[in-house]
Amino acid sequence: MTNQDLLAIAAEYGSPVYVYDAEKIEAQYKRLTSAFSSIKKLRIHYAVKALSNISILKFIDKLGSGLDTVSIQEVQLGIKAGVDPSKIIFTPNGVSLEEIEKVAKLGVQINIDNLSILEQFGSRHPKTPVCIRINPHVMAGGNSKISVGHIDSKFGISIHQMPLLKRIVENTGMTINGIHMHTGSDILDIQVFIQASEILFDAAKNFKNLEFIDFGSGFKVPYKEGDIETDIEELGTKLSEKFKAFCTEYGKELTLAFEPGKYLVSESGKFLAKVNVIKQTTSTVFAGIDTGFNHLIRPMFYGSHHEINNISNSNGKQRFYSVVGYICETDTFASNRRITEITEGDILAFSNAGAYCYSMSSNFNSRFRPAEVLWYKGEAHLIRERETFDDLLRHQIALDFTEKKQK
Ligand SMILES: *Cc1c(COP(=O)(O)O)cnc(C)c1O
Repeated sequence: MTNQDLLAIAAEYGSPVYVYDAEKIEAQYKRLTSAFSSIKKLRIHYAVKALSNISILKFIDKLGSGLDTVSIQEVQLGIKAGVDPSKIIFTPNGVSLEEIEKVAKLGVQINIDNLSILEQFGSRHPKTPVCIRINPHVMAGGNSKISVGHIDSKFGISIHQMPLLKRIVENTGMTINGIHMHTGSDILDIQVFIQASEILFDAAKNFKNLEFIDFGSGFKVPYKEGDIETDIEELGTKLSEKFKAFCTEYGKELTLAFEPGKYLVSESGKFLAKVNVIKQTTSTVFAGIDTGFNHLIRPMFYGSHHEINNISNSNGKQRFYSVVGYICETDTFASNRRITEITEGDILAFSNAGAYCYSMSSNFNSRFRPAEVLWYKGEAHLIRERETFDDLLRHQIALDFTEKKQK
């Protein structure tokens, strides 16, 4: 996808617009599966919440991946996209027993992350095998020592609750077919991740009927030059070795599972916006663009860095700009960023716009959500239309306040 391709897409579909490169998604998928090629049973579950457009789900299904879902609606989207329910795992947090039961009925693998629901689900459906989400309480310390943290995290069943967990499993007669962790933190120090997986292996020994071990995600991708990313190949070599040793000890060849979101789609995405106005104040040059945190909330919400390139003038001389959105409150994408000289009407391209961008967008300020385009085999395919005025009014009920005339 060249800058010329992107400019043509902005011209054809308008701005702002999200563009995803299918080839990049495929390359990431292949890099991950190659790193674990010595594992006979490998299963990737793409985390739908990162980017949930149905065409993206269909493409990811075509690659051979399954899905990781956190709501029944994501499960339904996956099934609608043609994904076999047996390739979907449901890993919610804090959802009702009723929702979990409905998802189980669809034939989807359930992953339970608290003892209350585990006991209720196990009592009512002892024949449905479930996976349990363990919180190993491991995170990277300052000098890459292991520190036991996240003790107040709302996710997972604490590793320290293993005795009660085992008692619930015995009392209900339920089957535990999988064990899972997803700490949510970036894997930068492979050794820390290996330590967490060793805690998981230890926990796994408590269950006789396992079919898989799911190591969640945490793959870090680069957002800017010089960023450290997860060394997937090193992780592949080290974890595969530990995993195979565990399977030998356990006496059964298990499936190794991961559930990457950001890793598969982040770098595939570009977000294109047009510069409405250049505003010079006493201290700053602002570039005001035709979008805001309603469409890309990560910089304001997490302080995330997204590279911004002026693709209309990519060889111009560099100047400093603060790139701001049109939302009527603080809405800053980048402060004092070096960007090639911007003229009103130029198109700026935000990088890493695949994961947690469109999927977190809203209609704040009564703006339409943008269009989405998939770049596939050298061609642009519209995969979501820009919203229209009717979309804003859909589901609204306009009351009639005109006074009835007295007869
Ligand atoms: C969000 C989520 C993921 C994906 O995380 P990334 O950082 O996008 O890779 C995986 N597993 C679970 C359970 C999640 O909630």
